[in-house]
This record gives sequence, C-alpha cells and structure tokens, in this order.
Amino acid sequence: MKSFDPYQVLGIKPEAGLAEIRRAFREKARLLHPDAGGEVERFLELKRSYEILCARHSPQRLRLVRERPSGGNYLLTFLDVTVRELALGATVTVVVPDRPLRCPRCQGRGVDPEGKRETCPSCAGEGRLAFDSRRRRYEIACPRCGGEGYLLVETCPTCRGRGELPQEKEMALRIPLGARPGDLLYLPAGPDGPVIDVYFELQVHNQEDLFFEEDRLVSLVQVPFWQAALGGKILINTLEGEEWIVIPRGLNQGFSMVLKQRGAYLEDGSREDLFVRFKIVFPEELPDEVERLLLKIAQIMEKKEDSHELAR
Ligand SMILES: [Zn+2]
Ligand SMILES: [Zn+2]
Repeated sequence: MKSFDPYQVLGIKPEAGLAEIRRAFREKARLLHPDAGGEVERFLELKRSYEILCARHSPQRLRLVRERPSGGNYLLTFLDVTVRELALGATVTVVVPDRPLRCPRCQGRGVDPEGKRETCPSCAGEGRLAFDSRRRRYEIACPRCGGEGYLLVETCPTCRGRGELPQEKEMALRIPLGARPGDLLYLPAGPDGPVIDVYFELQVHNQEDLFFEEDRLVSLVQVPFWQAALGGKILINTLEGEEWIVIPRGLNQGFSMVLKQRGAYLEDGSREDLFVRFKIVFPEELPDEVERLLLKIAQIMEKKEDSHELAR
C-alpha cells in the first residue's frame, strides 16, 4: 500500500494549526478541483487529507468507564497505545463502524436483479392469482413474486445477500489523562460518532525500559556491575527522552529512586512520580584482561576478609 501522508498532500508541516490547514486546502482545492481541470483522484485525496486533519484537530473525548454494559448492542474492541501516548495524552486515529449503505445493486433486497430468474411457483408465472368467492371471481397480484411472475434466485454478489454495505469512518480520539492499561474507554454512538456504542479496552505497548506496572510508571535501568560498584552518571529513559542521572557508589540490587512529578499527567494538570528501578547486570563474556583483574580483586578482597577474621 502506498503510504499516505495528509500533511504532505496539503503541503504543510505537522505543526500546522487548523487555520493553516484550512488555508492550504482552499489554495490547493482551487488548483486541483475537477471543474478547474484537475484530476478527480488527486482532488479526492486532497479532500480526504483535509477531513482527516480537521478531525485530528477537533478530536472527540473518550469517557473513562468502570465497566461495559451487561446487555444491549455495542462493539468492544482494543485500542493500542504507547506508554508515552498514555502518560502524556495523545490523539489517536481509529476506524469505527458508520451507518451502512443500502446496496446499490439490489436496492436492499439481497437478491441479484441481474441474476438467474425462476418462474414463480405460486402463480406459475402469471403474476396474478384468481379465486372464487360467492360466485364472483377475484384476481390479485401474486404476493410471492409481487406480480412479476418470476423470482430472483441468486444472492446479490455486491452485498452477499445482506442488502446493505458496511461502512467505516475514521475518527480522531483523545486519550483521557489518567487512563491506565486495561481501562475501558467509551465512545457513544451519535451523528458525529460511530453508528453503535463502542468500548475500547486500552492496550499499552510497554517498552523494555519504560512501562506501566499496575498503576505506576517505571523506568528500568540496567547498571553494569562495575558501575554499580563505582557509581557515577548513567543514562535512563524518561517520558521526555533519555536523561543522565547520578547513581551512588555501591549500588545494591533492588535499589530504586523516585523522580517526583516526572510520571504520567493527570486531567487536573498535575503529574505523578516516575519510579526508577535499577538492575545490576553481569555480562556473560568478559575480556581476558577483565577476567584476570577480577581474580586479582577477588584475591585482595578475600585476603582482607581473612585478616578481619584473624583480627577478631
Ligand atoms: Zn445487494
Ligand atoms: Zn407469483
């Protein structure tokens, strides 16, 4: 599939605001409109780009709900977001069911008007049924074939007999701040929304070094054993990107830190904390020289221990 970038189609930068999007559309539309000799396909692409960007700039808010209804008609689906989208808030584009279209081939009847026909068995192809009542003879149009005398017997290939074609529409949705993995978000049906109520279950793509653990945002830092011993500066992953922090000398396994108000944002504008957890790692392979030095260290340390023992 050809990649489609609405910003590129409109010739604007992703930072463009709604006013700029409108202006770019008007200018391009004047040139590309089929009435002005433009290609229909390119004009439709322009129109679609404009609609997508307008939707992105006036996104619909999802409502956080405790649980989905026990009955009724609704759609339950997943909404995949990244850790940063969930923690910083984001507008995501989803595809939801729209009002179905009546099948243009069969006009909603489900049978193919251009397909095989069979003589109506009820009226033997006459289209009319006659019966006598009180010595008078009546004739009515055959109810089975609607007076046509034949029946359409092939399923409409366009709608596969359903009479309507499912439609979808793209919508821009804002993830409410404070939502957490596994939460349910509700998008009500309506003229600006989907044709039925939609419930999204939030699925978060955790990163190896930045993830939600229950309700906490955790940054996991791998510390090489020599750095655990020596301390110093180490690079960690935060919501704002990579960042240097200083760790103490002699860091022990299970050591953790809290970066105040560096976690997920909440609706009231406040921020939660970021929990930084450290994991001391030992490489499987060490250079020979390091191996020799470690042995030396071990000898020194053990001698020290021994002299402590003797001193007691
Ligand atoms: Zn049809
Ligand atoms: Zn008939």
